[in-house]
Amino acid sequence: MVRKAKRRSRDEILDAMRADKDLDLARHDPAATFGWDKDGARAALRGDLATVHELQTRLFAEGTRSLLVVLQAMDAGGKDGVLRNVLTGLNPAGVEVTSFGVPTDLELAHDYLWRVHDAGPSRGRIGVFNRSHYEDVLVVRVKHLVPASHWRKRYDHINRFERMLVDEGTAIVKLFLHISSEEQRSRLQDRLDSPDERWKFRLGDLDDRRLWPQYMDAYRDALARTSTAHAPWYVVPGDRKWVRNLAVAHVLRDALEHLDPQYPEPEAGLDGIIVT
Ligand code: AMP
Ligand code: MG
Repeated sequence: MVRKAKRRSRDEILDAMRADKDLDLARHDPAATFGWDKDGARAALRGDLATVHELQTRLFAEGTRSLLVVLQAMDAGGKDGVLRNVLTGLNPAGVEVTSFGVPTDLELAHDYLWRVHDAGPSRGRIGVFNRSHYEDVLVVRVKHLVPASHWRKRYDHINRFERMLVDEGTAIVKLFLHISSEEQRSRLQDRLDSPDERWKFRLGDLDDRRLWPQYMDAYRDALARTSTAHAPWYVVPGDRKWVRNLAVAHVLRDALEHLDPQYPEPEAGLDGIIVT
């Protein structure tokens, strides 16, 4: 007889994923299931998304606060999959997705937070960063794009910047989609072999892959140093897409439930009006 693992609750899953200053990524299994199976997780995802949708509607109507979702991952880590599978079904008018690539000359002519601040969600919106200011302590560190004396100061800048956003009405959650090196190998190979996906592949992806251990060190430090009560990091198991989708939906739902957005008071004097 196969003993079924006990499904972990939403709160247990969120606790298990939350990063703290002693973060050890080796203790976060990229293939974790939290006791769920695929069919159960898909059904639970639908439930979460229905709630997220309703809360988004309220957030939009309330129009005073916003939610910023930061997505970070290695190549093929599933950022696009999260956008497709979890952030669909929302009202597109209320979602602003920004992808951060190699900075342009104009962006490089400013401080590294300039383009980030500009892309933050406006009131009532959910903003999603596909990559983010964290690249400035990840790729920038690993590829030595600025001296260590520069990027080392950025953890503090980032904490203070995010604190300011929170104080001004933007809730923040940060998701690291954590895949194993073997899973990345297999996904990159699939990309190369599939005519529909080959366009996503860049030779530079292989350079980054060779730097995997350095990236994991940089991720560890970034998450440990910038996971705060007001802007926590979650280490999301990324090898199984159905677990990843459910885990991300849990984070979004939890963040929106904490915001608890309310419909604004309707105008006075609407009772009994018959529209003719
Ligand atoms: P992708 O998200 O795979 O389309 O690729 C975007 C690329 O832009 C990645 O290789 C990132 O490492 C790179 N990138 C994003 N932000 C920065 C940054 N601040 N400095 C240097 N490279 C960056
Ligand atoms: Mg890429």
